[in-house]
Amino acid sequence: ADTVARKVEILGRAYDLLTERAGFAPEDIILDAAVLAVATGLAEHERYALAFLEALPRLKQRCPGARLSGGLSNLSFAFRGNEPVREAMHALFLSEAIAAGLDMAIVNAGQLALPEEIEPGLRERVEDVLFCRRPDATERLIQFAEGVEARAAREEAAAAWRTGTAGERLAYALRHGILEYLEADLAEALAEAPSALAVIEGPLMDGMNAVGELFGAGKMFLPQVVKSARVMKQAVAWLAPQLAGAGRGASRGKVVMATVKGDVHDIGKNIVGVVLGCNGYEVIDLGVMVPATTILDRAAAEGADIVGLSGLITPSLEEMVTVAAEMERRGMQQPLLIGGATTSALHTAIKIAPAYGGGVIHVKDASRAVGVLGRLLDPAGAPEYLGEIASEQERLRAGRREEGKRLISLAAARADHLALDWGAYTPPVPAFLGPREVAPALAELVPFIDWTPFFHAWDLHGRFPGILDHPTHGHAARELYADGRALLEVIVEEGRLGARGVYGFWPAHSEGDDLVLGDPAAPARPRLRLPMLRQQGEKAPEKPHFSLADFVAPAGDTLGAFAVTAGLGAEELARRYERAHDDYRALLAKALADRLAEAFAEWMHAQARRDWGIGETPPFALERLIREEYRGIRPAFGYPACPDHALKFALLALLGAGRIGMALTESAAMTPAASVSGLYFAHPAARYFDVGRIAPDQVADYAARRGVPVAEVERWLAHRLASAPGTRGGGAG
Ligand code: SAH
Repeated sequence: ADTVARKVEILGRAYDLLTERAGFAPEDIILDAAVLAVATGLAEHERYALAFLEALPRLKQRCPGARLSGGLSNLSFAFRGNEPVREAMHALFLSEAIAAGLDMAIVNAGQLALPEEIEPGLRERVEDVLFCRRPDATERLIQFAEGVEARAAREEAAAAWRTGTAGERLAYALRHGILEYLEADLAEALAEAPSALAVIEGPLMDGMNAVGELFGAGKMFLPQVVKSARVMKQAVAWLAPQLAGAGRGASRGKVVMATVKGDVHDIGKNIVGVVLGCNGYEVIDLGVMVPATTILDRAAAEGADIVGLSGLITPSLEEMVTVAAEMERRGMQQPLLIGGATTSALHTAIKIAPAYGGGVIHVKDASRAVGVLGRLLDPAGAPEYLGEIASEQERLRAGRREEGKRLISLAAARADHLALDWGAYTPPVPAFLGPREVAPALAELVPFIDWTPFFHAWDLHGRFPGILDHPTHGHAARELYADGRALLEVIVEEGRLGARGVYGFWPAHSEGDDLVLGDPAAPARPRLRLPMLRQQGEKAPEKPHFSLADFVAPAGDTLGAFAVTAGLGAEELARRYERAHDDYRALLAKALADRLAEAFAEWMHAQARRDWGIGETPPFALERLIREEYRGIRPAFGYPACPDHALKFALLALLGAGRIGMALTESAAMTPAASVSGLYFAHPAARYFDVGRIAPDQVADYAARRGVPVAEVERWLAHRLASAPGTRGGGAG
């Protein structure tokens, strides 16, 4: 199949046989149109790349519904050993092929250049070969590939941007986030322009618009956009003294946003703010722990076009409903945007949207915010967009009603608990009882960092370290990682963050679904009762209904508890960078503090296992720690096995965590934000699970065990309730 005609003929016949004779659905068929090697020196191979590209649209037409694929590496077979040339050939060929209809390809994702970054000389020669543009194309590419030319051209391209006009240089610096020459280039641009405002509205806005377009087209990623925004901010700050009261041009719209009352997490919200800012929106960020009245008063005073709410922990979901209801009560009209880790399209549809008629939109990640705002603030398109969202939310609500998994009674679930053989179990004995404080050096925690979530915080998805070679965002990931590592080094060397923790062991036993911790001095005397929840979802007969209490011996055992923070000083550090117009570093610092806190939790858990006599020898490598292959678990309150955040009040009091600078907000969010806490379980069978939804019988039982009114439990566990509070019997008491 080496020509267009042969490819279409052969694959067309295969398609007919599969669909007509073998009964395959067209969409289950993948056709490979065979990528063959070019630039081999043989004239009959010259048109191979072109034949593949030209065959694609014809195959789409001839074989409707089928997918098109191809194995890329054949193409550059003649250049084995010369990776830069191969990568360039693959990247350019791939982007052409995608445009021509290719659906998937077999590629070495780690070795793919970005088309925009290929040196122009190399690009031209590769394209000559791919498109068969000149008779000596192969010869010229070989020459280019052999010589030092390739390397020289690369360096030249990097320096070439310095030869443009001041305006061009500023636009380039914005696009690439380069601060190095900013002041010199601004001074030059200012000398040439009629006013400072003209510099902002000319080259700087042009540069930012290009960034916005590239981001929208998926060619730039969040960390790069935040770096571009930093160039813009510093440029505007440098020009500010010359602006003499001039406005900053018309904004595309005004957004008031905040992390809701009781919640302290704001990295995602800050990123959204920066991205919106560099797309021409005016953003008023009210910070964290902001009460509804403050947010809405400010939105009214500013005449905001949009209100945005962010939150990380589940109690914030309820707080968002409160804000939405208050907007309704005030008769506000602005659309309400919802974002943050625990929020979801489903929760927004079921709980928040019904509370407010002005439009409630869940924004899944920061990259979507610009698109959503664009549609909401376009007067012609907004009603239709809001209509689309409302019907999607109605669909989600309807789906949820049908889907509702059946729950069994609490008594039945308890009868079906996980029955471990306690007679055959000897609980490990810890080296000490009661709490113990630790303050490791940051350098000791660094090797325990799991980097994968660091990239997630910036909307770069994939696992570390593979993400560094990702075909589309590997480049952005490498830059982000280098910047993160560099800042981490400064933080560690200068001791900019403080890490303190407290952990310990308590005599413990289970009593029904309660965990009872004893007094270290008098183990028989109960010191703290922590009621646990139990799964009530219907299951296959052999599957138990788990509660964490199942993992603790009724006759006598020990439990561990811990609280760690690596966020002491994080706020000050971030503020310092913000004052220097460096949101990028401020965000990096917060993200690093989060990483260090998680690393600290891993580090301390390893220590606790050693104290318990159940440590690993030799110690596990980081990958095995991250996969939690060790014995035991460390469930955290607010997570699926123990979703009630409120138990953190008792946990932190037990540990005396106030002494290490930790506290809780009214929603039980930990401060500093970069903190982790939980319990340690030692039983080898202990595992994570999801409690799922709970029925009113358990809500009432749990409220009695916690010694609080049912309504309070309903508030803390709203997202777990099988039905809306008060709509079914059994809730009182
Ligand atoms: N390596 C990750 C670790 C955090 S996520 C990081 O650096 O970010 C894993 C932790 O979440 C667990 O150790 C546990 O504390 C908590 N967790 C996960 N699933 C849970 C569940 N079902 N119930 C309770 N806690 C859970």
